[in-house]
Amino acid sequence: MEQCSLTEGCIFFNDKMANMPSMAEMYKNRYCKNDFAQCARFRVFAVQGRENVPVDLYPNDGDRAGRILGE
Ligand code: SF4
Repeated sequence: MEQCSLTEGCIFFNDKMANMPSMAEMYKNRYCKNDFAQCARFRVFAVQGRENVPVDLYPNDGDRAGRILGE
């Protein structure tokens, strides 16, 4: 599997998850290193651009991503 191209600069991991390393690792394994196309952050990024991805959007919050994208 390909790794998410946003991993390095992803605000979510460089900010939000700094105090939750084990949870961050879980998300990284599930999304960033595996199925990033399903990541809520990646989905918003892909359609609306990085600047429109909310800082506090969790990778597993597909419902919120759907609302942002008007799905
Ligand atoms: S949280 Fe989502 S957007 Fe950020 S690096 Fe991981 S897969 Fe990519």
